[in-house]
Amino acid sequence: MEVSFGREAQALRLGQGEVFRGEGILAITKALLQSGVAYVGGYQGAPVSHLMDVLVQSKDYLNELGVHVEACANEAAAAAMLGASIHYPLRGAVTWKSIVGTNVAADALSNLASPGVVGGTLIVIGEDYGEGASVIQERTTAFALKSSLILLDPRPELGHMVRMVEEAFALSEASNTPVMLQLRIRACHVRGSFVCKDNVAPAMSARHPTEVPAPFDYTRLSHPPSTYVHERRKSDERLPAARRYVVDHRLNETLAGTRDDLGLIVQGGLYNSLVRALQQLGLADAFGDGTLPMLVLNVTYPLAAAEIRDFCLGKRAVLVVEEGQPEFIEQEIMAVLRRQDVNTPIHGKDLLPMAGEYTVEVIARGLAAFVGRHAPGLSLAAGEAWLAANDARRAAVAARLAQPLPARPPQFCVGCPERPVFAALKLLQGDIGRVHVAADIGCHSFASFEPFSSGHTILGYGMSLASRAGVSPAMGRRTLAIMGDGGFWHNGLLSGVQSALFNGDDAVLVILKNGYTSATGTQEILSTPDAESKAHAQDKHESLVHTNVAIERTLAGIGVRWLRTVDSYGVDAMRRTLREAFTTDFAGLKVIVAEGECQLERQRRVKPWMARLARSGERTVRVKYGVDEDTCSGDHSCIRLSGCPTLSLKASPDRLRMDPVATVLEGCVGCGLCGENAHAATLCPSFYRGEVIRHPNWRDRLAARLRHSVIALFQPA
Ligand code: SF4
Ligand code: SF4
Repeated sequence: MEVSFGREAQALRLGQGEVFRGEGILAITKALLQSGVAYVGGYQGAPVSHLMDVLVQSKDYLNELGVHVEACANEAAAAAMLGASIHYPLRGAVTWKSIVGTNVAADALSNLASPGVVGGTLIVIGEDYGEGASVIQERTTAFALKSSLILLDPRPELGHMVRMVEEAFALSEASNTPVMLQLRIRACHVRGSFVCKDNVAPAMSARHPTEVPAPFDYTRLSHPPSTYVHERRKSDERLPAARRYVVDHRLNETLAGTRDDLGLIVQGGLYNSLVRALQQLGLADAFGDGTLPMLVLNVTYPLAAAEIRDFCLGKRAVLVVEEGQPEFIEQEIMAVLRRQDVNTPIHGKDLLPMAGEYTVEVIARGLAAFVGRHAPGLSLAAGEAWLAANDARRAAVAARLAQPLPARPPQFCVGCPERPVFAALKLLQGDIGRVHVAADIGCHSFASFEPFSSGHTILGYGMSLASRAGVSPAMGRRTLAIMGDGGFWHNGLLSGVQSALFNGDDAVLVILKNGYTSATGTQEILSTPDAESKAHAQDKHESLVHTNVAIERTLAGIGVRWLRTVDSYGVDAMRRTLREAFTTDFAGLKVIVAEGECQLERQRRVKPWMARLARSGERTVRVKYGVDEDTCSGDHSCIRLSGCPTLSLKASPDRLRMDPVATVLEGCVGCGLCGENAHAATLCPSFYRGEVIRHPNWRDRLAARLRHSVIALFQPA
């Protein structure tokens, strides 16, 4: 990856008494090292990618400490890595994006949770829920409940989050139970500071290896009959031990208010939003000091019955602020109180929405309803005016708009190598008719938006080929599965390709080989070009994904007999290859590898290099496409076939033509798709390819003079 995390990596070296300043997810990363972690693994994904990115780029320092870092092939591999702590007193941490990553890891997680651990284990979960989330909206809590894993949801303040990481390892060891720590998007990116401690080198590590493996112990295998004992130990020993630790170490926080007849119980991760909502209603100051006492659940599973009882006892009503569905915490609180014969009325999902993100405004509306019902004497005038003003503003905007504003979905980067493949697919379907497209996770899922609107289903990362297995037999025409190289290595090779080969399926698979897991931040994979190839390709202005053929070799090795590799930007060649795949007599799996380096990663490498050359006075050439406005017919078919954000419209210079003409904006990276599309789709000949030359040499100047002279002959001034 071309992004450097040098500054963040430096922050990991801070010692006792020094002040760390930065984002929540980096504070968590530093906290792992302060906790004496011996190994770290994970699979990248927002909002926790930085944890692995920074550690992978800090390998030299981690080697000094003896901390092993593993960029895992998927979340299942990361969860399985925690198996090191079943027998050995090794503290380990892994990370991934949830809920999707937790789904992938589920098998290993269950098999880890069953025997339990002796070394503290922590799973840092990126809880991608709510506005801005990019995955299915489900909660990780369900996994904690079903597997008896401990779930932390810390209040988003850096010092507190760091303390919770350190406590998590001790809690895990005290209860022999793996701990999950969930961080919402806002918690990962919250900024702040904390006073550091020294990092702790693990006692047992790559620097201090043990010679003797643990003795054989059948009770630590998740095999029957051990599993029956494990199941009993979870409820009889481990969860009670966890509850004791939570209470003894005050992991949850009780915050006093000026009146004690009402109360709020809130997930720690929602604390900041709750305080802001209270402030808007005039019930608290910016620091949370105010009217209503709060129980902040930094541990949302398991709950300690005595803690819940002590908080609720004697109150006229309590509001539970719990995001997402179902209301696991609210239900448990009610059950806990009922068992202890405490009859405090509990509110939650009756006053707050069942689903969706709890923004400040959403919480404020629920709070207003709660206070209005149980403390009508409290003045909420300021807050109610704020809520009413929000409603009025929305209504006024809606009234002014003739129709709702169009959605602005994400899309491919300028010059993305995946866009041309979908242009070719669009042209192909014009030739042979529509095909069923099984889509996947990755940047290529942007093709599900205009102008391609391509993809019938998305069933998971690397699952496209597997997801069309039931469709293919029911279709008169072959089906198409599309996956990226990230998806191929994550799950596609085993779940899709292997299954299709084994069953002799007749299907077409396109693998978009851009060299990285681009959608998660361009992390490297098995098929990423090496540094030497990158340097060589840069000097020669060449594409470089063909320098690593791990995917092609793997496919050939496991028996794919119909395999083509096509340059992603070659629209016509791609259309021809796709047509061949859909019409050939060969009835097995047909795989097309579409090669083209991720443009984002390429520009990160090429732009600084070009800038350096320009600064030192060396000649540089930048390719840019343009539209001849006199030739443009104004039908905009190029835009419908491309979708490139730099291909836009401007007023026609010809007064006799009312339609706007196409134009190429300054951001064009010269990927060549415009020319390819014009050729493949026989569009109007208005596109031209230009070269912007800085520090031209004598040949460039001579050529320019000659050209101007010839043009002047035909276009006299
Ligand atoms: S990150 Fe790379 S692969 Fe993804 S849209 Fe951008 S250029 Fe395309
Ligand atoms: S050549 Fe066309 S598709 Fe490629 S970056 Fe430029 S405007 Fe976009």
